[in-house]
Amino acid sequence: MIVASFDPEARSHADTSGRPAIVELAGVSKSFHGTVVLDNVSLEVRAGEVCTLIGPSGSGKTTLLRCLNGLSPIDFGTVRVNGNVISSIGQGGVATPGNPTERQLAKARQDIGFVFQHFNLFPHLTVLDNITLAPRRIKGMARRQAEERAHELLKLVSLGDKAGTMPGNLSGGQKQRVAIARTLAMDPSLILFDEVTSALDPERVGEVLDVIRDLAIRGMTMMIVTHEMRFARQVSSRIIFMEGGKIIEDGPPAQVFDAPVSPRTRLFLSRSA
Ligand code: ADP
Ligand code: MG
Repeated sequence: MIVASFDPEARSHADTSGRPAIVELAGVSKSFHGTVVLDNVSLEVRAGEVCTLIGPSGSGKTTLLRCLNGLSPIDFGTVRVNGNVISSIGQGGVATPGNPTERQLAKARQDIGFVFQHFNLFPHLTVLDNITLAPRRIKGMARRQAEERAHELLKLVSLGDKAGTMPGNLSGGQKQRVAIARTLAMDPSLILFDEVTSALDPERVGEVLDVIRDLAIRGMTMMIVTHEMRFARQVSSRIIFMEGGKIIEDGPPAQVFDAPVSPRTRLFLSRSA
């Protein structure tokens, strides 16, 4: 098995209802300077689900992902990942007793991969060293083991021949695939993708989406923010439409795309077609 946490029996779109919850948000709210950005959001994502967030710019998608790994503090509610409390804030903005220490939060974060629009590879390190850095530094993995794993992951993202290359010599799509391999090297139980193809040349988008599609087939739990609606429909087990910091619609792709309940979802989809 290439990636230890993958369930070889898992298939995308399998029935995940009996699986453990990986993401749990309960009544999460957040404002920036008096503007409500997340408005009492509750959400559960189970192991093996591929949950895609769609919605207009400014609807709170990025903020929701950032709350999941503690990058964005919340004002109210509880965020749990893998059963670990990331943040729990009660009335009056008071942290409840179950909140993690900095150290516990750092540990919980190791389990959450985050791939952004911009790749943030270290330009002075080879592709191989970019991938092995965190497993060696943070997990204390031996160099040989980390490198073996990195070579496997590079094959997985179809870059088996780029281990010794410097990031500056890669295309945007290749860099983004290295960024995904780097995330996988930490063996996360959840990967968050935030508009990972938005900065790419159109002809490079497909190769990155193919990697994400492959991860979905392998049963990786993922939350994806994307404007690629066709891809979202193909790869997701579940689509969430957000507007104004609220979850407006939440269902399987066929339902959300073909028979949305809310007129706001319908309007959004008609504009993004
Ligand atoms: P989306 O990803 O759906 O486009 P975001 O979560 O990035 O939406 O943003 C939601 C709202 O929160 C927007 O109105 C945005 O301007 C605001 N916002 C996001 N981050 C910050 C920040 N660090 N400071 C102030 N406002 C912010
Ligand atoms: Mg965003």
